Amino acid sequence: MVFNIDKKSISNNLRHIFGFSEFREGQEEIIRSIMEGRDTLAIMPTGSGKSLCYQLPAVMRTGLTVVVSPLISLMKDQVDFLNSRGLESCFMNSSQSWNESKAIVKDLLNGRYKFLYVAPERLTMNSFKFILNDSDISTMVIDEAHCVSQWGNDFRPSYGRIGKTITSLVKKPLIAAFTATATFQVREDIVKSLEMNYPSIIVHGFDRPNLFWEVVRTRDKDGTLLAELNGLRKKYGNCSGIVYAATRNDVDRVKDLLDNGKMKVLKYHAGMKPTEREKNQDEFINGENSLMIATNAFGMGIDKKNIRFTIHYNMPKDLESYYQEAGRAGRDGEESNCTLIFSRKDIVIQRLLMEKEKLNRTSYTRRNENLQSIINYCYTSGCLRNFILDYFQEFQTHRGCGNCGNCVVDHEVSDITLESQMIISCIYRLREFFGPKIVAGVLKGNEDVRFREWKIYDMPTFGIMKGYDETVILHFIYSLCGDGILEYSGKSGEKLRLNLKSKEVLRNERRVMIRKHIPAHGLSKADRML
Ligand code: ADP
Ligand code: ZN
Repeated sequence: MVFNIDKKSISNNLRHIFGFSEFREGQEEIIRSIMEGRDTLAIMPTGSGKSLCYQLPAVMRTGLTVVVSPLISLMKDQVDFLNSRGLESCFMNSSQSWNESKAIVKDLLNGRYKFLYVAPERLTMNSFKFILNDSDISTMVIDEAHCVSQWGNDFRPSYGRIGKTITSLVKKPLIAAFTATATFQVREDIVKSLEMNYPSIIVHGFDRPNLFWEVVRTRDKDGTLLAELNGLRKKYGNCSGIVYAATRNDVDRVKDLLDNGKMKVLKYHAGMKPTEREKNQDEFINGENSLMIATNAFGMGIDKKNIRFTIHYNMPKDLESYYQEAGRAGRDGEESNCTLIFSRKDIVIQRLLMEKEKLNRTSYTRRNENLQSIINYCYTSGCLRNFILDYFQEFQTHRGCGNCGNCVVDHEVSDITLESQMIISCIYRLREFFGPKIVAGVLKGNEDVRFREWKIYDMPTFGIMKGYDETVILHFIYSLCGDGILEYSGKSGEKLRLNLKSKEVLRNERRVMIRKHIPAHGLSKADRML
């Protein structure tokens, strides 16, 4: 097949059909790859402009572009948009009557459409195959492609069948898969499950410069939340934001806490009646000054650009989910805040949720590693943005971003090299067999029958941090993990182990500095926790 990949006509179409004057980062590279006829896996965050990457090539290639998407509400928006640009488009999903579907199929087979948006359940039905075979499909677009992966957060069985459906077609179309999920495991699963042919894999745009990242560690979440909201209202005036909480109960409780008449406070969770949920969602999307309190059930496919902040009242299960939820702020490119309010209890909550899922051993280990990563995010004293970009393996060179809670706030910094050396030697003496609590207990020199049994009382590091509060010792340990100087090990991350960095600290080749955390907005006494 020959494609027209002349630069001028690409930019003409960009301007005249889509109304954009230039590409965003990464878009052109993805479009080229598709135009060259290569299977393409594009990994870009939500809101970075993935739709254009398949819509523009579709305009320039002959044939139908089929877009598989799990989001019914989004389908309609996209189809309306394309039709308004003179690109004949339709969608097929469970929201339509049989007669409606029949009419669409007829037009499809007549070659009327340029785009078909279809739900994965429909696409993979046996009865749908003749429609696919009888349409001249040039490209099969798989949106939210991470749904093929059991490691992703939104695994869907119907997504698992897409690959087979495509390979069973008489003529195999080009595959372009899109996702905002960037972990290697998920990437591999997508390529394998969709049976993509030597795909070009393009990762782009994970940095969201307009988002200000912040972690607040506290024991008083309610106080912190109120203070944070106050600070944000001072900064932004009337605006909309989302507060995510872990459970339905928390959502109900936080809503009551915040319902003071200054903002429209709405809630959303899976325990509510669908009609009520939808009503709240619409009000939020159309409102100018509204606050949504929600579980992670809220947000998939929400297209509201002027969300000025997200606050996580609890730590989510991994950085992936966090980045996706928090990233709903600032889609208009304007300055916005993403705050995570953390306490140790969040770890307990996440572990309980994991137990409930009855994961098998490998999934458990992986989930646990992911959980450790976000815990480390909560404790790092380094740049939060760099931490995230490192996690997504997007290349970066800068040292600190200058625009996150750890970079800009004038923290009190303390040198804990000596304390770190004590902690590290203790872990070494304990043969890397124990977790933070025992290590801290040993350093503190606690009375504990187990210590006698294990002959720990005789160890030289026993009690060498007697003068410190045990919570302070623990905090040092968590911070060392956050900065990658210690690591969690064991099948559920219950032990601590040393690495190259810890050895450098022992040999006096690396100094350890931690910051006392002071949040950028709304300082309250509760936030003064170490
Ligand atoms: P995603 O699918 O990655 O979440 P969308 O495709 O919905 O993101 O795009 C997000 C927003 O960015 C849309 O409002 C879209 O119109 C806009 N957009 C996409 N590409 C460009 C561009 N090159 N210039 C300006 N705006 C763009
Ligand atoms: Zn930073």
